[in-house]
Amino acid sequence: MKKYIFTFFCFLFFGFTGFSQYTIKTVPNPKLTGLGFVSNPDAILNNAEVDSLNAMIQKVEDSSKAQIAVVVLRSIGDIVPKNFATDLFNYWHVGDSEKDNGLLILLVMNQHRVEFETGYGIEGILSDAKCYDIQQKYMIPEFKTKNYGQGIIKGVKAVTNIFLTKSEEIKPTEEMQVNNTNNLYNNNSYSENIPKYSSWKNNDILIFYITFSIFSTFIFLILLFVALLKKDFFIRYQLMRIFRLYFWFILIPVPFVGIYFWVRYLTDKWRDTPRISAKTGKIMHKLTETEDDKFLKKGEVAEETVKSIDYDVWISDEKDDVLIQKYKRWFSKYNACPKCKYKTYYKVYDKVIKSATYSSSGKGERLYKCTNCGFSKKTTYTIPKKTRTSSSGSGSSSWSGGSSSWSSGSSSSWGGGSSGGGGAGSSW
Ligand SMILES: [Zn+2]
Repeated sequence: MKKYIFTFFCFLFFGFTGFSQYTIKTVPNPKLTGLGFVSNPDAILNNAEVDSLNAMIQKVEDSSKAQIAVVVLRSIGDIVPKNFATDLFNYWHVGDSEKDNGLLILLVMNQHRVEFETGYGIEGILSDAKCYDIQQKYMIPEFKTKNYGQGIIKGVKAVTNIFLTKSEEIKPTEEMQVNNTNNLYNNNSYSENIPKYSSWKNNDILIFYITFSIFSTFIFLILLFVALLKKDFFIRYQLMRIFRLYFWFILIPVPFVGIYFWVRYLTDKWRDTPRISAKTGKIMHKLTETEDDKFLKKGEVAEETVKSIDYDVWISDEKDDVLIQKYKRWFSKYNACPKCKYKTYYKVYDKVIKSATYSSSGKGERLYKCTNCGFSKKTTYTIPKKTRTSSSGSGSSSWSGGSSSWSSGSSSSWGGGSSGGGGAGSSW
C-alpha cells in the first residue's frame, strides 16, 4: 500500500515538473513515435519545417546509412546541453551500429544553446571544428533573429551536403528553397508564438492543478465522512492516516495547510481516545511506551526501537483484556525480515567493489541485516560496462549488451550508434 501511494506521488510530482523540463528518458523518440528524425515536443518548429528536415535527413540515411537526429527542447533544467546531447545520443543509439555514423543536433531554447553530437564514424568528415563552423556560419545568425526553423534547416542542409557531396556549401538554388520555406511560414515562427505558447502551457498546468486540488479535497471529504461513521477510533485513524502526510500542504497549500493541522489534531485525539474492551465492555487505558514493552513480543519491541512500527497497548483496569494496536510508519528504511518477518530488516551498505570500465563490467555488493533476529544477507550484482565504442572501431561489444529495441535494420528505431562526446556547441 505504502509503495503504491509513494509511486502515485512520485508520478504526480514528476507529472508537474515534466511539463516544462525534459530528461533523456522523457524526450519523445521520433523513431518510436513514427515522426521521422525530428523530436519537437514543444512545437517550436512548425510542421512544414519538420517535414522539410525529415526529407533532407531521409536522403542522407538512404544514401549513406548515416542518421541525423534533430531535437528541439524548451528546457532541460540545469543540465549542461553538451552532457545532455551525449547522453541522449547514447540512450537512443543514433547512427549505424557498425559505422557509428550518427549525428544529434540539440537545441535548448532557454539556454540559447545548440549542440552537435557526433558518432566516432563521422568525426573524420564532420570534425568538431567543422561542426562549430556550420553552427556559426548558418545557424547562429538565424537564431539571433529568432528564425529557429530557418537556422536548423540551414544547419542540417550544410550537414547533409557534407554527407552527400563532401562539401557543406549551400548552393544558391538550395538557399532559395530554404528562404522560401522561411517566408511561407514566417508568421508561425517561434518568437511570435512565445506569448501565446507559454500562456497556453501555463493555463494547462493551472487547470490540471486546480482539478487535482478539487479532486483531492473531494476524496478527503469522502474519507472523513466514512471515518466519522465508524465507531472504532482505530479504524477512523487508519482511514485518515494518509492526510497526516505533510506533503499535502506542500503540494496543495490551499486548502490543505488547514486540513493537515486539523487532521493531525483529530487523528492524535482518536489515537488517544480510551478504547472499550470487546470482551467486558469496560474502558481500557493506554500504557506508556516503556510500560507496554512487556506486552509486546521481542520483534515488536525491535520494530518500536527502529521506529518502523509503533504499538499502542491498551489494558482494562481489571487487567482482564489487552488490546494491541499497530501504527505503521509511512516512510521507513526498514522492511520485513525474510526470516523473522518483523520490519527490522535494512540495507547496511551498497558499495562498488569493482568499477565498470569500457571493456569489462563491474561488481557491487549489498549487505542487509535484521536488527531483531540478526539475520544478514550479502548479495553481489553486476554493473554493466560503460557504453562507448573505442575509437579504433573494435569496441562494438560495448553497446551490444542485450537491448534489442534499437537493433539495426528496422526503420522504427535508431541504428545502434554511440558517441564518446565528439561534436561542438555554440550559444546565441
Ligand atoms: Zn529478522
